[in-house]
Amino acid sequence: MELTDGSRIAVIGGGPAGSFFSYYVLEYARRFDLELELDIFEAKDFTKIGSSGCNHCGGIVSESLVQELATDGLVIPSDIIQRGINTYTMHTEQGTRTIHAPTDERRIASVFRGCGPRGCLDKSLKGFDNYLLGLCQEKGVRLIREKVTLLERSKDGVMVGSSKSAAQKYDLVVGAVGLNSKAQQLFKGICPSYSPPEVTRAYISEFMMKPANIEKSLGTSMHVFLLDLPQITFGALIPKYNYVTLVLLGKDIDKDVVQRFIGSKEVRSCFPKEFPVERTAPCQCYPYINIKQGEHAYADRVVLIGDSASSKLYKNGIGAAFITAKAAARAVVFEGVSERHFEKYYKPMCSELDRDNWVGKWIFWATRIIQKSAVLKKGILDLVGKEQAQKDSAQRMSAALWDTFTGSAGYRNIFRRFLHPALLFGFLRSTLASNLPIINRHSHEKQKARQTL
Ligand SMILES: Cc1cc2nc3c(=O)[nH]c(=O)nc-3n(C[C@H](O)[C@H](O)[C@H](O)COP(=O)(O)OP(=O)(O)OC[C@H]3O[C@@H](n4cnc5c(N)ncnc54)[C@H](O)[C@@H]3O)c2cc1C
Repeated sequence: MELTDGSRIAVIGGGPAGSFFSYYVLEYARRFDLELELDIFEAKDFTKIGSSGCNHCGGIVSESLVQELATDGLVIPSDIIQRGINTYTMHTEQGTRTIHAPTDERRIASVFRGCGPRGCLDKSLKGFDNYLLGLCQEKGVRLIREKVTLLERSKDGVMVGSSKSAAQKYDLVVGAVGLNSKAQQLFKGICPSYSPPEVTRAYISEFMMKPANIEKSLGTSMHVFLLDLPQITFGALIPKYNYVTLVLLGKDIDKDVVQRFIGSKEVRSCFPKEFPVERTAPCQCYPYINIKQGEHAYADRVVLIGDSASSKLYKNGIGAAFITAKAAARAVVFEGVSERHFEKYYKPMCSELDRDNWVGKWIFWATRIIQKSAVLKKGILDLVGKEQAQKDSAQRMSAALWDTFTGSAGYRNIFRRFLHPALLFGFLRSTLASNLPIINRHSHEKQKARQTL
């Protein structure tokens, strides 16, 4: 089962996965001298402000993705980038440290997915998803701004229909519907062995601030928080041009968890004194995030990609969408579109992400232990502080933390580096050195108290 000249592809969902797939499938087809017709169905209008034009996300484009895109000749335009991030600032109850990018070329971009948060008055903002769709349209993709409501198998194809237009037949249907459960159910109808990913609720809000205040308070640093607060695995403040995005990941984040986080001294200290952080931000949401991969995301003439299939645990979801989209595009053009082809040429990429996430789970498990331990956090701060002060040192802890926060390296790679004897020894030494004065002071205070009794 292969695509031939004139074959028709329907991509359902024009988020990063759908756009990356469309871009690369047409690029590979061009190299292969294959003429394809490709329609993207997208329910949202990414030129709109607020949630109707947004695919809820922190908006960090990882350095690995920035570099991979550049390698393929896709340089994200400067008017899409809201701020270039070159450091990470790690906040704990025990102190703060700034980690610089391991090398000068390793830059991260912060972007808006839509055209700005609800209440935004700046009509000049441009979003990442619309930029990607534009690249696809330049390649000849037809964008159909409609929500797909019907997927049905026909004799030698798949029928795709929407609430606005009659069903049309396609030779291949690609599911890039993210975590939209209704759309995933439509795909189950034509791909019965597909089981959608497991999800949990996260949180995002956008604070409007003057660019000069953002520059002063947060600079070009992404601020991450390792606080001893239940249910939160990761909290971050991401500076953009005139907004700061707050992202909370963890387990079933709700209003109370958000308030505890925002109310903490460490988060408060990142905003100007008079800034009303506690006042509800006009643009906030509790979107779902993947915590376990989908299974068997393919069948004859059907393949699911991006969040609908496999993502990277908690980090770099856009990068993972790129990986699955490109792998599926390669399989479709160079191999074929039957279940057997996807099993052989697409599934291994999803399994690879899956295996890496398994290690990622252990990394986040260890992170939760560290979050609860003042002793371990002091050790990390001490070691990172020393490494950052000695620019020519190996910077093992800083580089491993950088990749954990940015999601730029695979979890297995990061895990191996955390287990490096020099890193473990340095961590042990810093933990003892930074905590011994406290331990000594505690026992001294105890002794004094005993004597006064
Ligand atoms: C709180 C949070 C913060 C995050 N932060 C980051 C980050 O900073 N960096 C990062 O790399 N990743 C981040 N992610 C992950 C990232 O958002 C996703 O991994 C990424 O958007 C997946 O892309 P996708 O194209 O698969 O899905 P989506 O971006 O969800 O796109 C799916 C598209 O399908 C469309 N659609 C759905 N159903 C239909 C239908 N029936 N008909 C037509 N269209 C339909 C939707 O409108 C949508 O546009 C974050 C996620 C969350 C929840």
